Amino acid sequence: MPTDGKNQKQAIIADLLIRDVEIFDGSGDAPWQGSCAIADGRIISLSTAESRADTQPIRAKQEIDGSGFALAPGFIDIHTHDDMAVFDPKRMKAKLSQGVTTVVVGNCGISASPSPLARHSTLIPPLDLLGDNSSFRFTNVNDYMEALAAAASTVNVLPLVGHTVLRARAMDDLQLPASSSQLAAMQKDLSTALAAGMNGFSTGLAYPPAKAASTDEVLALAEVVADVDGLWTTHMRDERSGVVAAVAETIDIARRSGVRTLISHHKCCGEAAFGLSRTTLAMISKARDELRLDLDVYPYTASSTVLLQSFAMDSRKVTVSWSTPHPEMAGRDLDDIATEWGVDNISALEKLQPGGGIYHQMDDADLERIMAYPPALIGSDGLPNDMRPHPRLWGTFPRVLGHYARDRSLFLLQTAIAKMTSQSAETLGLNNRGKIATGMAADLVLFDPATIADRADYKSPDMPSAGISLVLVNGKPAWKNEALTGSGHGIVLRRDH
Ligand SMILES: [Zn+2]
Repeated sequence: MPTDGKNQKQAIIADLLIRDVEIFDGSGDAPWQGSCAIADGRIISLSTAESRADTQPIRAKQEIDGSGFALAPGFIDIHTHDDMAVFDPKRMKAKLSQGVTTVVVGNCGISASPSPLARHSTLIPPLDLLGDNSSFRFTNVNDYMEALAAAASTVNVLPLVGHTVLRARAMDDLQLPASSSQLAAMQKDLSTALAAGMNGFSTGLAYPPAKAASTDEVLALAEVVADVDGLWTTHMRDERSGVVAAVAETIDIARRSGVRTLISHHKCCGEAAFGLSRTTLAMISKARDELRLDLDVYPYTASSTVLLQSFAMDSRKVTVSWSTPHPEMAGRDLDDIATEWGVDNISALEKLQPGGGIYHQMDDADLERIMAYPPALIGSDGLPNDMRPHPRLWGTFPRVLGHYARDRSLFLLQTAIAKMTSQSAETLGLNNRGKIATGMAADLVLFDPATIADRADYKSPDMPSAGISLVLVNGKPAWKNEALTGSGHGIVLRRDH
């Protein structure tokens, strides 16, 4: 090796070098052994053991020996209700402890801004999933976006605006379809939100305050989003025995508006719907030949939302996740509560309102079929305000990697990682995240593929996962030694990014 100055290669100066690690680059390709150098929040160099001699030497301020570990792009939680939780670093422990570095907020028609409180001072469920009235303190979208940027969250935040919030701002009676003037007001609000940098809008058509919205109402709003090539995410009108019709409606709106569409938490609830995922996935596949249509899923056979009679009736078991009048019932089964009170389940459910529940109502075969469907993305749908949350809040991503990829061999580990990184980034239009490649943002997770596992379950739902060693957000440690580092390096991901 020549050592005279003429032939000597200049060293790359890095903030951090993670060396001798198994790199899952997010593409879905097989992993490779190598090293990853980071500087100024970005990946600046990648090398294999063989290529190291040919590449420039790296002088790093800090080095980590990654032997025995896997390095992946930070996980993107494409479906969350973290609109307000992102302001509190402690509450984001649920996400960082499982390797999540980006959250999409404003889903299921519910967003923290613009506030609906001017017209409806009592929050109509499911708006209360985000918290009490104080969660809706941002009168306009710009205030929320500015507060997010100023807060420097511990994760990156990609916001959407919720249709149900727009409805509640424009309409007194949410049990009706919108009039043309009300629809015009919603379109105006939506345009303002998109101009403020929001990435699109979400609907929650299964919920009482949005049920009365016609297909044309949603279409008229989807067209506004399509004009700026934004994203529409939808908790469809029916995820039970009517799920096939709901998918057909979604495809119809996507086709007529041209909007990029994401079906949220796809599932088939209640025995009458078991097996219908065969039909829905075939419809989605066919539509994907000509439309930009995606879907996400969480890895559990129980759902969770506000207390709703229709959900309870389709469930094998309902566990109360929160109740304002009866907080002592959080974590108890509805059957037990009804017996204790000497009433039927429906009366008990009414007495617990407002509140939330965990509904055991899906079939493993549908869940695995949807998860294994190649385009399916992973999103947690975690509810950070619940007293006894569904374990998906803390366990989703390690559960997919540990339980479903490693233990059940539902797919390869690199396939599972792609479903929570590059594929999600592509759906969201994020060009510089979701992959390990030179120049990409250094959102990274170092984990042990042999031990990664979810520890949260229905009995102990707020347990950090096992096997996540280090989480970097924009190149800075956010989770290390099984603890939050306390620093916030997340950014707001605006539509124009
Ligand atoms: Zn939803």
